[in-house]
Amino acid sequence: MRKKSDVQAILKRAEAYCMEQGLRFTDGRAVVLREVVRQRTPVKAYDVLQTISADKARPMPPVVYRALDFWTSHGFLHRIESLNAYTACTHPGCGHDCQIFVCSKCGRVSEICDEKLIEKIGHKAESLGFRIEHLSVEATGSCPDCR
Ligand SMILES: [Zn+2]
Ligand SMILES: [Zn+2]
Repeated sequence: MRKKSDVQAILKRAEAYCMEQGLRFTDGRAVVLREVVRQRTPVKAYDVLQTISADKARPMPPVVYRALDFWTSHGFLHRIESLNAYTACTHPGCGHDCQIFVCSKCGRVSEICDEKLIEKIGHKAESLGFRIEHLSVEATGSCPDCR
């Protein structure tokens, strides 16, 4: 679990971001973001639904799925494709595709943000005449504690 103060800080940043961008920071969006951010390991949409079904705000499933998409597209969450799960971005709001390392033993996620790498893949794709819309770089393996 992440520290309460860290979770609060991310939620505050998300709220400020929504204000700036003229987006709505609804209860449903806030509850869903809090649920994912609280966990240090990736969370599946189903798990979010399970945990918040006890919450009094209790958003409906479509609201939860839309909120996960919303926070992902605004750079606050990352979708881990290989696990079909979500995790908090460690530098929210940066707005680009991060490269993600998932520990297959404890589930811990670390990320880097190498724009040169993204650029390089973009150029290579261009040489194939391919235009990238979404790029996901994920590695699975062992974290320092699990090695
Ligand atoms: Zn990130
Ligand atoms: Zn690990």
